[in-house]
Amino acid sequence: MALIVQKFGGSSVADIERIQNVARRVARTVAAGNQVVVVLSAMGDTTDDLIALARQLTPYPSEREMDMLMSTGEQQSVALLAIALQSMGYKAVSLTGEQAGIRTDRVYSRAKILSIDSVRLERELASGKVVIVTGFQGVDSLGEIHTLGRGGSDTSGVALAIGLNADFCEIYTDVDGVYTADPRIVPQAHKLAEISFDEMLEMSSLGAGVLQPRSVEVAKTFNMPICVRSSFNDNEGTMVKEEVDMKQLEREVLVSGVAYDGDVVKVTVYGVPDRPGIASELFGALADAKINVDMIIQSGHKDGKNDISFTCGKEADGKLEEILEPVVEQLAAEHFSLADDVAKVSIVGAGMITNPGVAAKMFKCLYDNGFNIDMISTSEIKVSCILQKEGAKDAVRALHDSFGL
Ligand code: ADP
Ligand code: ASP
Ligand code: MG
Repeated sequence: MALIVQKFGGSSVADIERIQNVARRVARTVAAGNQVVVVLSAMGDTTDDLIALARQLTPYPSEREMDMLMSTGEQQSVALLAIALQSMGYKAVSLTGEQAGIRTDRVYSRAKILSIDSVRLERELASGKVVIVTGFQGVDSLGEIHTLGRGGSDTSGVALAIGLNADFCEIYTDVDGVYTADPRIVPQAHKLAEISFDEMLEMSSLGAGVLQPRSVEVAKTFNMPICVRSSFNDNEGTMVKEEVDMKQLEREVLVSGVAYDGDVVKVTVYGVPDRPGIASELFGALADAKINVDMIIQSGHKDGKNDISFTCGKEADGKLEEILEPVVEQLAAEHFSLADDVAKVSIVGAGMITNPGVAAKMFKCLYDNGFNIDMISTSEIKVSCILQKEGAKDAVRALHDSFGL
């Protein structure tokens, strides 16, 4: 008897019919003789709707109350699935993050799971029940509810699979697996049979929303393979795992995928005095506010002053002004600007490490197609460019084509 964790995303439980569809799939896995732990997202756009409700009251609701509010979405879906399974004659119980023993740190809205106390989960499984756990949430040592960041149910699924020593972890979504690019942007994109943790981590960090980056990080750390597949059909999905088939290496796949991220804010601080310690002060303040900074460019300037540009995720948008105003004054910089009319387009592939010229080919493709590159960053397995948002999805299509994906 295998223990399987099955996570279903919001679109897979968007209405009662889809919840019944999930119930049938879970029932099939149980009937085949397995123990099943199900992790659910909130129904459809529930999380967005809850956020919109709070924003009708104030643009900056408190993070604690937002976690309290957002965590209710998953409580609805798990209870409904338990009712669906029970009405089909299966034993099932739904549990909140707290009841499932999911312990987090104390960061609101993007907490990390610290541990899972599996006593209750194991007891429920031993009594023959399907255990259905709310994704996206846990509690800290004081019992406060914390959510895990958007898309966080993926991480709940992976963490539960690890905590319970499950045989495998399936992530069910509205696409058949991981594609060479978002199939909504590039209709010709094709499904990958498998992808390494490292490549998937880059892809998802660079905007491929099919898996929350943190879920891949956790899966890689504990070497828990993930199968990404559709909840709407029985097609084989994509295996995300440590080693990929040697055949891929033989084919010299330089680039495995192209990613698009339209949720980027570009910050420029102008006229920053050129003295040691400036970067530490500026980025220290952002780190203290738990803002992840991505690309950083310092451009030389005259009169002993520089301009410093960097990018961060859209979720930082509401806080940036508040953080930057005092820092800019303290640094005696001239002023700063925020721009959200930019997007990040990236190519990802482990084959790049040993193949110089991949970045050059990307820049040539962008130039040939009339795109102006604003910022560039590279790592061993990715190259990212910041472009004007308008038309940036065309750049994804052009790159997908140019690298023969
Ligand atoms: P869920 O609600 O199941 O968690 P998400 O919307 O979070 O689903 O993730 C699935 C979506 O991820 C797909 O509908 C697709 O548009 C998007 N996506 C982005 N990049 C990729 C990619 N490379 N492969 C597959 N899907 C991708
Ligand atoms: N419901 C949460 C969100 O929309 C978590 C998830 O779906 O993974 O971000
Ligand atoms: Mg998701």
